[in-house]
This record gives sequence, structure tokens and C-alpha cells, in this order.
Amino acid sequence: MPPAPVPLIDPFDRRVKDLRISITDRCNFRCTYCMPAEGMQWLPRDELLTYEEQARIARVCVERFGFESVRITGGEPTLRAHLPRLIAMLAPLGVDLALTSNGVKLPEMAHDLAAAGLRRINVSLDSLRPDTFAALTRRDDLERVLAGIDAALDAGLDPVKLNCVVIRGVNDDEIVDLAAYGRAKGIGVRFIEFMPLDAEGTWSMDQVVPAREILDRVDAAFPLEHDDGLAAANDGTEPAARYRYRDGAGDVGVIPSVTEPFCEHCDRVRVTAEGKFRTCLFALEEFDLRAILRGDAGDAPDDDEVDDRLASEIERAVGTKWAGHRIGQVNFVRPDRSMSQIGG
Ligand code: SAM
Ligand code: SF4
Repeated sequence: MPPAPVPLIDPFDRRVKDLRISITDRCNFRCTYCMPAEGMQWLPRDELLTYEEQARIARVCVERFGFESVRITGGEPTLRAHLPRLIAMLAPLGVDLALTSNGVKLPEMAHDLAAAGLRRINVSLDSLRPDTFAALTRRDDLERVLAGIDAALDAGLDPVKLNCVVIRGVNDDEIVDLAAYGRAKGIGVRFIEFMPLDAEGTWSMDQVVPAREILDRVDAAFPLEHDDGLAAANDGTEPAARYRYRDGAGDVGVIPSVTEPFCEHCDRVRVTAEGKFRTCLFALEEFDLRAILRGDAGDAPDDDEVDDRLASEIERAVGTKWAGHRIGQVNFVRPDRSMSQIGG
């Protein structure tokens, strides 16, 4: 019988309780804001954590520290073989289990994922126009992604949400169309400010459409219930500030990571596909959990020593969690990894 979980508190008095696990650095898209068109170096397969190793880290976070949510991401997580097997391993943890996907493989996978115990999903969709979609993702798969969203709804995943990165001059003229699509489907759209995590390093502040402007545009087309400051609308830890439509047709969210960062409420940590633990998307330091999982202590499932070492390394890492990133400030340092290599 394991001891009761002890909440993990970081140096800024925030409780850490949300784990994001990247399970692959590979992807079948090449979104301009994330990857280069060519030339990505993939991790060798034996450097990726196995599902057993990922589930073990998640279990330690839940049992030792009372984590409440686990999100599977990547790269594109549906590219990893037998993903429902990992979902089935995580489901018994009883936490809020979610997946972020570009949606392309959902037409054939959504039902298996739901059957394995997945409850909810975020699908990325940045444009409803085939040409803009193809320019952004460098792939011609809009129809498949739309079919993937329908498959997720049909499989009973609830909620299905849309992630939409807004880039000025590229897709900001589609904000209202995307909101309308979400309303029609009963799906909450989350508009995300473009962050400096693109592999090509071309991000600039003038490409960022501030969340405030996004909301104003949505509000002008579909009036929103309240408009009293972004932070006021959220529950404290969810990065998306959510607003309900006045006509009752669901809600819309904005993730103002750049212009109004939610760092002071941040409760999340990340594990990269090769097992590096990070306390922030923009962290410059990583903690090697794979070395513990595969090192001297071995990886026998009931090996308490490995669990102890993982727990103390996670504690040590969380002790370094900083107050927040400094995007837009002179002392901001860009991580040398892109979004797909960290896990979004
Ligand atoms: N491949 C999956 C997908 O696209 O949904 C999961 C991984 S992706 C890295 C996770 C999320 O990060 C996606 O919603 C994507 O749009 C977002 N993202 C990627 N690069 C970004 C950037 N530079 N700024 C803001 N969001 C970004
Ligand atoms: Fe792939 Fe997601 Fe990055 Fe797009 S955002 S390249 S789908 S990992």
C-alpha cells in the first residue's frame, strides 16, 4: 500500500499536478510554426521511452504527488504504434487523461482510443481553407482532419476541443470562421498565441495576434458573455481563458501565452519523448529520467528504488521551476529545441 500522495509545491508556491508526456518527436505534418520543411533529425527508436517507462513516470507522479491530469502529445502521438495500449495503461490511474493530435489518423483510431479509456481530445486545426491549411501544415490533409474531428465526436470523446495557432497575415482572417465551425459542431475552439518555438526561428512579435484582439473579433460576430480581463474568466490553472457565447452555443478560449502569460498559475511539467523532464516549455534545464529508468537501479515494475529515484529527481527538478518565461523581455532566452521536440 503506497503512502498518501504529498502535493508537489514549486518555489513560487504553485502546486504542480499536470503532466504532459511527449511520446514521439516524429510527425506527419510540418507546420511552419513548429517544424522545418525538411531536415528534422529524429530520435533513434531505442532512445524513446517505452510505454512501460512512460506509464511508470505517470504512476509515480500520481501516486507520490497526486497529479490530477496527464496529457499525451508529441510530435504526433498517433504515429506511435499501438497508442491505445498506452492509453489503456494510463486509464487505471484515474486522472484526467487527454490527447493532443493533428487529427489525421483519427478517422481510423478515434474509436479504439475511446475504448481504451481516453476521455477527451484536442485536435489542431488552424484553417478551414485548403490552400492556407496546406501552406501552414505543408500537407494537403484538411479533409482528413475534418473527418478526424467527426470521428472523435462520433467515438464519444468529450470534450473535443480545437487548438488553433493564430498568425498575423496567415490565418487571422479566419478567426470568426473557425469560431463558427466550432459553434456548429458543439466544439470549443482554443485560439493560441504564436510562441517562439518554431524550429526555423522566424518568430517575431508582429506575427502574434494578441488574445485580446482575437476575442474582440469573435465577440463582434458572436457576442460573448463577459469581457472583464482574460484571467478573470478562467479557473486559475487552465491556460485557456474561456468565454461563453451569450446565445448559449458553447464557449471559446484564448491561450495568451505571449501577451498575458498564465505563468503565475502554471501547474504543469513535461517529459520529452526521450525521457527528459522539463518544468516549462521554455526551460533551459532538463532532468534525465531515462537514465534513472534504465540505469543501475533497473526497471523492474515493482522496483521501489526506481520509483524513489524518479520521485526525488522530479522533486529536485520542480525545485528549479521558475516564475515564468520572459518572452518579449530583453533577458528572454529561446530554448534550443522546437515545439515538436519538447512536446506541445
Ligand atoms: N502534433 C500534435 C498537434 O499538432 O496537435 C501535438 C503536438 S503539437 C506540438 C501541440 C500543440 O502545440 C498544437 O496545438 C500546436 O498547434 C501547438 N504549437 C506548435 N508550435 C507552436 C508555436 N510555435 N506556438 C504556439 N503553439 C504551437
Ligand atoms: Fe506536427 Fe503538431 Fe508540430 Fe504540426 S504542431 S508539425 S502537427 S507536432
